[in-house]
Amino acid sequence: MSDSVVDSGVPVGGRVTVRADEVVKNFVSGNDTLRILRGVSFGIPAGVSVAITGRSGSGKSTLLNILGGLDRCDGGKVFVAGEEITALPEKALAAYRSRKVGFVFQFHYLLKDFTALENVMLPSYIAGMKKRDALDRARALLSDVKLDDRVGHYPSQLSGGERQRVAVARSMVNDPDIVLADEPTGNLDPDNSAIVAELLFAGAEKWGKTLLVVTHDENLAGRASARYTLEKGQLLEGPPPASSGLPDGALACPPGGKPEDGGV
Ligand code: ADP
Ligand code: MG
Repeated sequence: MSDSVVDSGVPVGGRVTVRADEVVKNFVSGNDTLRILRGVSFGIPAGVSVAITGRSGSGKSTLLNILGGLDRCDGGKVFVAGEEITALPEKALAAYRSRKVGFVFQFHYLLKDFTALENVMLPSYIAGMKKRDALDRARALLSDVKLDDRVGHYPSQLSGGERQRVAVARSMVNDPDIVLADEPTGNLDPDNSAIVAELLFAGAEKWGKTLLVVTHDENLAGRASARYTLEKGQLLEGPPPASSGLPDGALACPPGGKPEDGGV
């Protein structure tokens, strides 16, 4: 692996886990076409952590969803661990999503009728791992996020920070190629944000995961080994210019909404 990250979107060495070539995404809104991603290109070596910041509405979630196989792009290509995921048919894309990608969202999306341990083990059990092995792996991951004494708790019996730590553990249970985190601390107070951020990065480092984090949280972004800013449909290297301060979205996008499935 190389520490060199990218040079004008071109990988300069090492094994590249994620590569995007001229990714384009448009949304049609009434009579307008919103050109959200206008040719996004980058390459991320294996095991590197990357933070993507940008104003609210700049397309950060859109980009992450495309990388994670949750959405399709309108142009360009995405390769993850050598596989062109943009060429996969629907069924193969679903398999990619569940086997090769770990997700952490702003909301934990834990299943409320399952314990922390069961929530973490379920993705690997569903993927075909033996129950005992899946439980062992889940226990180890919950220990990594310092929840050894909470494994039997249901989501309603956990604090917001603890639930998000369970979500971090769950994101790595299938030994994914990449972990994608979309505003993982967006719903937490500063103390819990710092704890979750630390555990997310430490977990990715320990397990050698390539981590992409979308965030408004400067502390979280600062922990990444490489930074990008999404602006006007382009992904630029580095953090936003200091003069711009916090992106608008830090204020314009309060933690609203609610979990859609199984959240508590
Ligand atoms: P960010 O995560 O950076 O805040 P998003 O990627 O969620 O931004 O959204 C980028 C832009 O695309 C926003 O203007 C949003 O309104 C628009 N958008 C996102 N999803 C859809 C959709 N399914 N249909 C139409 N517009 C969308
Ligand atoms: Mg978003």
